[in-house]
Amino acid sequence: MMIKFPYRVLIGKSPEGDIGAMLEDMRFGKKGAIITDNNMKKLVGAKVADITGAEIIIADSLEMESLRKLSLSLKGKDYVMGIGGGRSIDAAKYAAYLAGKPWIAFPTVLSHDGVVSSRASINSGSSKVSVEASEPSAIIADMDVLSRAPYRHMAAGAGDVISNISAVEDWKIADKAGKEKYHTVMGELALLSVKAVQENVDDIKKRNQHGMEMLLWGLISSGFAMNIYGSSRPASGSEHNVSHALDAMGSTALHGEQVALATIVTVYLQGGDWKTIKKLMLDIGLPTTAKELSIDRGTMIKALASAKAVRERYTVLNEVNLKEAKAEKALADCGII
Ligand SMILES: [Zn+2]
Repeated sequence: MMIKFPYRVLIGKSPEGDIGAMLEDMRFGKKGAIITDNNMKKLVGAKVADITGAEIIIADSLEMESLRKLSLSLKGKDYVMGIGGGRSIDAAKYAAYLAGKPWIAFPTVLSHDGVVSSRASINSGSSKVSVEASEPSAIIADMDVLSRAPYRHMAAGAGDVISNISAVEDWKIADKAGKEKYHTVMGELALLSVKAVQENVDDIKKRNQHGMEMLLWGLISSGFAMNIYGSSRPASGSEHNVSHALDAMGSTALHGEQVALATIVTVYLQGGDWKTIKKLMLDIGLPTTAKELSIDRGTMIKALASAKAVRERYTVLNEVNLKEAKAEKALADCGII
């Protein structure tokens, strides 16, 4: 078992001035590439390029082929830095992995727990696929930049954390069924993330420094749990299956919104306290109905009924034989449809 951690985490209000010292400390070498988009180039990328002398590369596609090309342009570089939301982070993560270069995550929005994870979400034709990549060697978080992201995205990040409640319970269900041993430390680490959100709802809503820091660490510790365990199991169960099914059916809601919404019903199916989760979501300002996410009734029912077939991972869906009528009743019972 090989465990990898990011070995530097730089957090603060405008911490860009410390990046030079951090890079020196990490002994990466001087030649860097910053993968970002045009907006983030203006907001923070250009400033970081000035400080580090790194070359800015605008990544506008997450298609496998263009990421392969992008990785070729990284050959002469010592390190890669991804600055932006999910797309730039995934592009940097995967291109760096293909090129065999260390990479640094500089998220500008806290919308999901993929920042620290070793897997990248990329496009293959019309669908998204999750592919193997590597963990970031460092994480940089600028609280000023993060506070400017739309609140909807932060709420979605909190939603991705909340979904750990369902994922961890699924893991325990898999253990009871003799399918996969529950790992107490990684399971509790994933639940610790939830606690960080739960206890700091007001600060997260105010988007103050403490709230953002707690959300950031919630996402980081979810990522740690997945990376240490070696699979997404600690933070991805039946509720992520439902979200993947929704993606495949063309839903355009944010990942964190979908997994949180699904968590209400998967926890209901697990026999858990779904009402408390729904209340927490309402407190944060997350949608709790399919309609709010522009998902119609039929699509929501189909997504839940077909979620078991999404992948090989033992969850509550393997234990409740969910035909459409039963899925409809469950969704209606907890007010999702
Ligand atoms: Zn997720």
